[in-house]
Amino acid sequence: MAIRWDAQRLDATNTGTLPGLARLSTFVRSVRTPEFHGVTFHEILAKSALNHVPTDARMLPGEWTINPYRGCTHACRYCFARNTHTRLELNTADDFDREIIVKTNIVEVLRDELKRKRTLPPRVAFGTNTDVYQRAEGRYALMPGIIDALADARIPFSILTKGTLIRRDLDRLRGASAVTTVHLGLSISILDERLQQSVEPGTATTAARLATVRAIRDAGMECTVFMAPILPLMTDQPAQLEELVGAVADAGATTVLYTPLYLASGVKEVFFGWLRGARPDLLERYSEVYAKGSATSRRYRDWLSDRIRPIIAAHGFPDPDETIEDKFALNGRTAVTPVFTPQPTLF
Ligand code: SF4
Repeated sequence: MAIRWDAQRLDATNTGTLPGLARLSTFVRSVRTPEFHGVTFHEILAKSALNHVPTDARMLPGEWTINPYRGCTHACRYCFARNTHTRLELNTADDFDREIIVKTNIVEVLRDELKRKRTLPPRVAFGTNTDVYQRAEGRYALMPGIIDALADARIPFSILTKGTLIRRDLDRLRGASAVTTVHLGLSISILDERLQQSVEPGTATTAARLATVRAIRDAGMECTVFMAPILPLMTDQPAQLEELVGAVADAGATTVLYTPLYLASGVKEVFFGWLRGARPDLLERYSEVYAKGSATSRRYRDWLSDRIRPIIAAHGFPDPDETIEDKFALNGRTAVTPVFTPQPTLF
């Protein structure tokens, strides 16, 4: 990769310098700017905007998504979407965090698709692949046009994000919710600030996200909080769960969902690399926990469920299983009860 960095210019451009991207006929240019140090935006012209995710055993049916960005500067060490970067000959580690694909024409393409489609999608889910309110959205501002297009077509949609930038669009989202169903969700799972900033280094702090929940509620909309992922041995103790659910309740969340850490292949290496530096004392236990696959065992999930559900109920939230399918079109990577092979150990 030989993209040149010229700090004196606002936009330094260089076309066709990435092997996988260069093969894309839709590739336009690569851009670096001083405000986004270390990040390269690769602008492409999308051919389609609406993406239908095929149903499989771990997915809810009929999931449509729109992904204006590929890669995510939020850089969560556990991010399940990392593997998508390998299709462009980019790696699942730093490249995923810093080489961001931007579909600059997505609003026009979406409007065109909606005009031509005989059957409109029953709903659209944002945030099941990469985060639409990551930092790139501050530069490209694609979501306002997307929200307007969906609202004009009366298509229900959900947004799950870690990005406080969603506050910029609250008036627009409230307007959309007057004509179609809009579900908003924040992902918040770690109260310990040092741990949170270490494992999710590009995200807003938990305090800022809790304030965003409050802002959504003040804007008159409901807000779900996804406690995802719960990190075994780091954030799963009853006192920690109690403190987090309490903070989420204080922020005004209307629903709470949760899921333990899932490490897809390719992602496991990145997460273990982080663990090696941040919590070497847990390496052996995590190796046992995830020895047989990507998921924790049924026994662990039952153990977690037995502890967290009473806490969720005690704070007056509805039962997670009864709300997840209604509000968010989520696949098994983020659902509460994914189907995986039980393992004999606790984890
Ligand atoms: S915010 Fe979501 S999409 Fe972005 S890195 Fe984190 S888990 Fe991945």
